[in-house]
Amino acid sequence: MQFIDLQRQYEAYRAEFEAAMAGVLAGAKFILGPEVGRLEEELAAYAGRRFAIACGNGTSSLEMALMAAGVGPGDAVFCPAFTFIATAEVAMLRGATPVFVDIDPVTYNIDPADLAAKIAAVGKAGRLAPKAVIPVDLFGLPADYGRLEPLAREYGLFLLEDAAQGFGGSLGGQRAGSFGQASSTSFFPAKPLGCYGDGGAMFTDDEALAATLRSLRGHGQGDRRYEHVRVGQNSRLDTLQAAVLLVKLAHFPQELAERQRVAARYSKNLAGAVTVPTVPGGCVSSFAQYTIRVAPDKRAGLMARLKEKGVPTAIYYPTPLHLQPVFAHLGGRPGDLPQAEKASAEAMSLPFHPFLADDEVDFICGELRRCLR
Ligand SMILES: *Cc1c(COP(=O)(O)O)cnc(C)c1O
Repeated sequence: MQFIDLQRQYEAYRAEFEAAMAGVLAGAKFILGPEVGRLEEELAAYAGRRFAIACGNGTSSLEMALMAAGVGPGDAVFCPAFTFIATAEVAMLRGATPVFVDIDPVTYNIDPADLAAKIAAVGKAGRLAPKAVIPVDLFGLPADYGRLEPLAREYGLFLLEDAAQGFGGSLGGQRAGSFGQASSTSFFPAKPLGCYGDGGAMFTDDEALAATLRSLRGHGQGDRRYEHVRVGQNSRLDTLQAAVLLVKLAHFPQELAERQRVAARYSKNLAGAVTVPTVPGGCVSSFAQYTIRVAPDKRAGLMARLKEKGVPTAIYYPTPLHLQPVFAHLGGRPGDLPQAEKASAEAMSLPFHPFLADDEVDFICGELRRCLR
């Protein structure tokens, strides 16, 4: 059994992939070919944004959004402590300072009340200027934008949605990838919408911002070729990856329905035995991960027993960012962000993908319940 079974997905759409990729090989427009433009239009329409700009990966898409927002040294960039490193790494890459915020223990997403407290603390200390906030749609669940957007407006923060895991999810009918001034997603193969290598995209409704992002991904090019108006990156989405994504995007709504099926079956089977994910009313999760919580002293044994039974599991994320060695100079200490620390000690993700069959879910749940007895 695979944790995320990409081979089954490949077999399911194999003929479409082969035709799409053969088309790119025959056309020989490998960089920014016509498939990239088509994909950008479809992505923008799907997310409900005016503009989508495809790029090389999710990390550089986050970084280019911060570049466009003018984030730099002396700026505080607020982000949750319980996420993948990339969310905070991009602040450091810009010379800014990440300020870690605790999470809501139920949703795992950034806690708006703690964000307000951290903004106030930065203001009081007076060393950094509050500049941006990067909420993450962790495990596929959109963050609490109903509270985050007014907070960002009140303090003049640039709100950048990290929808690397959330793409496909929604809040009040509004899709992930459409919150804040800009959004970012990743097409890393294991994400809900993944390609066959690295890829990413940026989203915005702001025409000037979109033009800047488009320039940034191609060496800061101006209106003419070989005219450069800003320092940018080399961060384009390969045409072959765009062709793969066009195939997968067509199947994405059906896959999301399958993800709901698998998640519902897990939760029905496991309720009472472990803490299952909570999806607040009005939200749809894309279930990038199906993550349960178990007692910290039970987790390692449980994972080992499941492995013996052929069931792979994973910990997202074993160390909260404020306790990562790379951020030691920021002075984070155990106890600073208790909910992020507790989640790191208790969270455990189960095999999850749209092709997971009901009897496989039942088998995993049966083994899990047996191990817990
Ligand atoms: C995967 C991921 C990224 C980075 O995406 P890459 O395409 O791997 O660079 C950023 N943020 C979060 C939350 C992610 O899960």
